[in-house]
Amino acid sequence: MDVSRRIVLHFPPHVTGQPVVYRLARDFDLSFNLLKASVSPGEEGLLIMELSGDQENYDKGIQYLIETGVKIQSLSQDVIRDEARCTHCGACINLCPTGAFSLEPETRKVLFDHAKCVVCGLCVKACPPRAMRLYF
Ligand code: SF4
Ligand code: SF4
Repeated sequence: MDVSRRIVLHFPPHVTGQPVVYRLARDFDLSFNLLKASVSPGEEGLLIMELSGDQENYDKGIQYLIETGVKIQSLSQDVIRDEARCTHCGACINLCPTGAFSLEPETRKVLFDHAKCVVCGLCVKACPPRAMRLYF
């Protein structure tokens, strides 16, 4: 049976130089559609992708990722903003890989476009007053 899932991969610095995604295709016969990539050698990296293939190969590929130290997040989670906590500091604007935050010039408020969010979790950790929350 084939599966296709959208996942977020967080690469620790020691893994970003390795051909991890190439090996997913070569060793596990998986195909992938990159939706967003932010990877620089020696730094933390982030890949958002749709990963597809035979269920057994998919499971082996995921296991391989875990063993290499890559953190995997499913997009079946959701991120919402607690409007009462948001101080509109702007810390989330540049770190969001999909541009889900924007500054409204007239009000100087930070707008959150939930439809653009791919639930990578970056803003949850970075938001100073913890206004962004991850739900399962
Ligand atoms: S980092 Fe948090 S408090 Fe600051 S604008 Fe973004 S959501 Fe609001
Ligand atoms: S979790 Fe936060 S940083 Fe990640 S895509 Fe959604 S809004 Fe952007």
